[in-house]
Amino acid sequence: MYTKQCLRCENKSFSSASAREWECPYCGKDLAEEKARRANHNINIQSIYRILLQKKGFEVYRQTAYLSSRSN
Ligand SMILES: [Zn+2]
Repeated sequence: MYTKQCLRCENKSFSSASAREWECPYCGKDLAEEKARRANHNINIQSIYRILLQKKGFEVYRQTAYLSSRSN
């Protein structure tokens, strides 16, 4: 598993191999020139949560904050 961080939007993308063609899935920037780094295989809940937020946008976070503020 390899990872590259986008220079433009700073999101991380992942691939099973250090592919020559690598496009940022978030903003479409060509990351072919970026150096691929080995992804950390340790499962990190916080980083997964961040990736989920980046993928779904912050709407989920806002809803959660709204609901929890109502229940208080
Ligand atoms: Zn990007």
